[in-house]
Amino acid sequence: MVKLFSSFMHMGASRAAGLRASLGALRAVHLALLSVLGLFIASCSTNPATGEKQFTAFMPAASEANVGAEEHSKILAQYGAVDDAQLRAMVTEVGGRIVPFTERPDVRYTFTVLDTPDVNAFALPGGYVYVTRGLLALANNEAELAAVIAHEIGHVTARHSAERYSRSVATGLGTTLLSVLLDSDGANDLLGLGSNLYLSSYSRTQEHQADTLGIRYITQAGYDPYAMASFLTALERNTELKKKEMGSGAGSAPSYFSTHPVTQERVSKTLAEAGQQNYNDKAVVNHEGYLNMLQNLVYGDSAAQGFVHTGRFVHPKLGFAFTLPKGFTIQNGAKEIAIMSGKSNALALADSVAVQSGQSMETYLRTVWLKGKNAGTVENRVVNGHPTAIATQQGAVNGKAATLVLAAVQWKPDTVFRFHLALPSGITEAERNAMMQMVSSFQTLSAEDAARLKPKRLVVFESSGLQNVSKAAAKMPFDDGLNELRFRVLNGLSSSDALQKGRLYKTIVQ
Ligand SMILES: [Zn+2]
Repeated sequence: MVKLFSSFMHMGASRAAGLRASLGALRAVHLALLSVLGLFIASCSTNPATGEKQFTAFMPAASEANVGAEEHSKILAQYGAVDDAQLRAMVTEVGGRIVPFTERPDVRYTFTVLDTPDVNAFALPGGYVYVTRGLLALANNEAELAAVIAHEIGHVTARHSAERYSRSVATGLGTTLLSVLLDSDGANDLLGLGSNLYLSSYSRTQEHQADTLGIRYITQAGYDPYAMASFLTALERNTELKKKEMGSGAGSAPSYFSTHPVTQERVSKTLAEAGQQNYNDKAVVNHEGYLNMLQNLVYGDSAAQGFVHTGRFVHPKLGFAFTLPKGFTIQNGAKEIAIMSGKSNALALADSVAVQSGQSMETYLRTVWLKGKNAGTVENRVVNGHPTAIATQQGAVNGKAATLVLAAVQWKPDTVFRFHLALPSGITEAERNAMMQMVSSFQTLSAEDAARLKPKRLVVFESSGLQNVSKAAAKMPFDDGLNELRFRVLNGLSSSDALQKGRLYKTIVQ
């Protein structure tokens, strides 16, 4: 598949890429396994951060850096880094302040802000630490950012990634690769078949350990130790918001934290541990400086990624748009856009590929997309000036009978825009029509239209003390009735907290 959408990004798509990468690594390690079997017993080492014996046979410290460097370039290719020198400098500075207080200050750390609206942070072996644009938007002060980074550094110093990687190899996790559905990694991933060895499954014990280490590191670095608990609380509230957004059909697909919610137990534990730290009232929080740094930060998908705008998916940079079925969720992936119905499990994937100029859409569909397999009757029509060929076939998704619709739209002379629909038997007529309407709504955006479509941004303002939360929230550009909750989540406010005069708050504008 041609990576025309190389600047789209989402965890979901990267999970698939990560899985492929991990499987490649697994295969290599498997070959080595036979020769190093004798090392098994001898290879439990004592970790300097946790003081525990560890089983990390397959990834000695020296090779962590190599594995990390290799994965790092893949992650950058998938997500892109936020192009904001000030923001990058801040994250690197906060990280650099923590590193000297860790047990492995010799590790060369690399801090990266990934350009994705997902709220996430993770670390790779070899000192690669990532926070997302979405996470920076959710945090409310420098100490919370420090807590997240310190937690991830905790995973590195405790060598959780290396430990998990070794366990995965030993138990064969990830080697049960599944049937290829719809010929798409995105589809596999959406149907819950994807997994990632790095990003998804630290154990509860490892999470607690990283919290404990993180609190210790930030306290020693001069930050408020309660920041870990306050950020975990923000995550917990954000998960509630995401669930409600999903319920209203306006949300994006579940992120890591909505599938792995922060538990109340974890918040209580970090609160108790903060109370045991030796710190004074000079401990850094820095609400104001941090918020000022976020002024005008893109919120949600960026123009380079394409975003949802008044019921349409619009991509100002690439110059196309199409109508979204109501009540569906969208996952804007690196290589494709996935559109899903929570009710009927109807699924659509949209992407674009380069084709030979001059080829008819029917020829492309029959000979290239379906590779000469029986396409049956192909319908030819024109969609907003674009010649389009549509094939309908009976097939199965996840073992269940479904109608598969393949639509090839001639977007440019050498580019096809493709819709791949999976409509389970039992889907309502209205849903089927909405899915087909998506195909027939595809259009090229004019330069003027593209210029008018702006992504959402964070704006920081000082409260005059005259406004209440619901009034301040009402102006945000969402029509799902969740603005007050969204404002509270964004600003770390509980359901009863009021605005304080002279304090800075974040809001969203478009
Ligand atoms: Zn963690």
